[in-house]
Amino acid sequence: MLILEVALKLPLHRTFDYLLPATMHVVTGVRVTVNFSNRRCTAIALNIKKRTDVPQEKLKQVIAVLDEQPVLNQAQLHFLHFVSQYYCHPIGDTLFTALPAVLRDGGHPDKTQIPVVRLTEKGQTLPTLRAKKQQALLFQLYEGGAIKLSELKALGFASQTIKALEAKALIIQSIEHDSDWAQNELHLGDKPRLNDQQATICSAINVQVGYRTFLIEGVTGSGKTEVYLQSLENILKAGKQALVLVPEIGLTPQTVNRFKKRFTDLPIDLWHSNLTDNERLHTWRRAEKGLSALVIGTRSAIFLPFKSLGMIIVDEEHDNSFKQQEGLRYHARDLAAFRAHQINCPLLLGTATPALETLHKAINNKYQLVTLSKRAQTQHDNQFHLVDMKGQPEQGGFSPMSLHWIEKTLNRAKQVVVFLNRRGFAPTLMCHECGWLNTCKHCSTSATYHKNMNRLVCHHCGEQDFVPRQCPDCGSTQIMPTGLGTEQLESFLTERFADIPVTRIDRDSTRRKGSLESALEDINQGGARILVGTQMLAKGHHFADVSLVVILDVDSGLYSCDFRATEQMAQLITQVAGRAGRAGEAGTVLLQTHFPEHPLLQDLINNGYGDFARYALKEREEAMLPPFAHLAIIRAEATNINTVLQFLSDLVPATPYPGIQLLGPIPAPLERIAGKFRYQLHIHAQQRTVLRNYLSQLARYISTHESANRVRWSIDVDPMDS
Ligand code: ADP
Ligand code: ZN
Ligand code: ZN
Repeated sequence: MLILEVALKLPLHRTFDYLLPATMHVVTGVRVTVNFSNRRCTAIALNIKKRTDVPQEKLKQVIAVLDEQPVLNQAQLHFLHFVSQYYCHPIGDTLFTALPAVLRDGGHPDKTQIPVVRLTEKGQTLPTLRAKKQQALLFQLYEGGAIKLSELKALGFASQTIKALEAKALIIQSIEHDSDWAQNELHLGDKPRLNDQQATICSAINVQVGYRTFLIEGVTGSGKTEVYLQSLENILKAGKQALVLVPEIGLTPQTVNRFKKRFTDLPIDLWHSNLTDNERLHTWRRAEKGLSALVIGTRSAIFLPFKSLGMIIVDEEHDNSFKQQEGLRYHARDLAAFRAHQINCPLLLGTATPALETLHKAINNKYQLVTLSKRAQTQHDNQFHLVDMKGQPEQGGFSPMSLHWIEKTLNRAKQVVVFLNRRGFAPTLMCHECGWLNTCKHCSTSATYHKNMNRLVCHHCGEQDFVPRQCPDCGSTQIMPTGLGTEQLESFLTERFADIPVTRIDRDSTRRKGSLESALEDINQGGARILVGTQMLAKGHHFADVSLVVILDVDSGLYSCDFRATEQMAQLITQVAGRAGRAGEAGTVLLQTHFPEHPLLQDLINNGYGDFARYALKEREEAMLPPFAHLAIIRAEATNINTVLQFLSDLVPATPYPGIQLLGPIPAPLERIAGKFRYQLHIHAQQRTVLRNYLSQLARYISTHESANRVRWSIDVDPMDS
């Protein structure tokens, strides 16, 4: 009798054995159906063996085999085993997280055909149309090539527009035909001549045959994307596939279009959260069969099974959205390094503001550091000014000097960016009589006042409430919004600069599909305009006409208990500042602060992010914080505070484990969210292997622990927040 060892989608750090009937043909990586506690489940076949420790009478038979070909090949399984070990995450859940939903649920790998929208021959002539949206759609297809229906909708095009153009025979929907792109000669769109720095970098990358990670440290607009494009050329010419990871696709359709315009004949697929399950499966299979030349995707694209991957690029490698914050808590950039090493291909990490972890590796020659120090299209660097807010009369959150600058800039018909990383009208309401503060019923935080909706909304649990007319404590009607949000800035600036259009860009203003795109379109019309926004504004957009950036809440990053706060503040300031002066003239960046003499701020604005980051690394070293030590957090939450505390206290060993320092249980930064108490243990280790061994012991201990069922718990290796 043969035994099949399988992985099930369970939060358990183990595999399961089943009897394999002689009639069934199974290879590693196929899906099978088995019975687990009286339920039929899909499982992944890992290993066929002759013996098991499970007693004969308890062994159950495999019910069915779902695939002839593996859905996870050997290389994928090897990669995912590493992922499971590194993040101390159950193997079954790791494998199932990597699979697209259709395969996870037992669906057929090849059941889907996804139509794409493309221009007809008549459409290629780009006739002029009166309907603005229809014209925009024609341009999109002309510039970006064939595209999936759902992606057009994500870009803000309505079914109506698409139908109208179909009726005019300008576009058609058809099934994508599989091109043999790897055999064809590569035709390229127009490309600029590289400048010296770019050329040096590209030749360093091009001579690289095997694995090597390059950190491209280049200021915004210095031509990093151009370096990606020209490095990809050689890979694609050789018929190898490539993967480009980006923080968010919906936010930057311009970037995607640049790749499509350069590699016009090549099949380029996108991977992001707006795809339907079937579309995801479709892209997964195209990558696997080698049908897509290039996949541009968000973090989970790192799990795609490429047939012959020749290069991975991680754009904006510092961006926190590469870290998955629930379930399998992986970091796509870090996994990209492992994967590139495994398949022996180059990895490019690009950013203006490297994460300290990445910079540390580059300084220690684990990665090759290459630099682009000049903007590609302008000679000018941005000018930074610190605006001292101490004792200043504030108006709508602005100092008189900032308002003066804004006015001057608008008078020159240029655009202004106002940055505040807080949406809503005000973060809290306060009673003027007794000092009552509004708090969320379920969380240890206040609910944000949204004036447009006339509601209090908790940004942590989503609870919405009416705005009270009277103070619940003293009955006074003098309830005032306290603190600033983007909605308030928008309303102040609209009043103050009456003839100037104000565009707000944050999660509230862009919730409706297509609203971000039309806002960006308005902005790119040019002319005097104010853009108010949160960090969505900082992400990769190209605004040609912005010449002033005002940053309002610098101080919150200077004095935070989170050791990453200053790094993140410096990244955000640099990224937002990068929106100014993209073309032509130098931009001006104003930072409003109560601490203009703060050494970190001084360093950042006088010497730039690169210098700041190297200094910050020294501080991390002295404090023995990552990247000079390794960190993990065990988080637990439950409705009853004692259950949580008991569970975590039990994990702290009576005698210390060599090489491990434990801190806790301590409350999470927000002790209560949605009615659940949240506590954590911090685990520090000098050695990665010590941490890994310790965590795997701990995970095994927890899974036998009876109180583990009464809390929600998780292990976060290399956490990005605490
Ligand atoms: P980054 O990705 O670093 O922000 P980009 O690659 O987007 O920079 O380049 C910024 C702008 O400069 C783009 O409009 C790009 O087309 C242009 N550009 C890049 N490299 C060159 C070059 N060598 N010659 C002329 N223009 C260039
Ligand atoms: Zn009161
Ligand atoms: Zn809440």
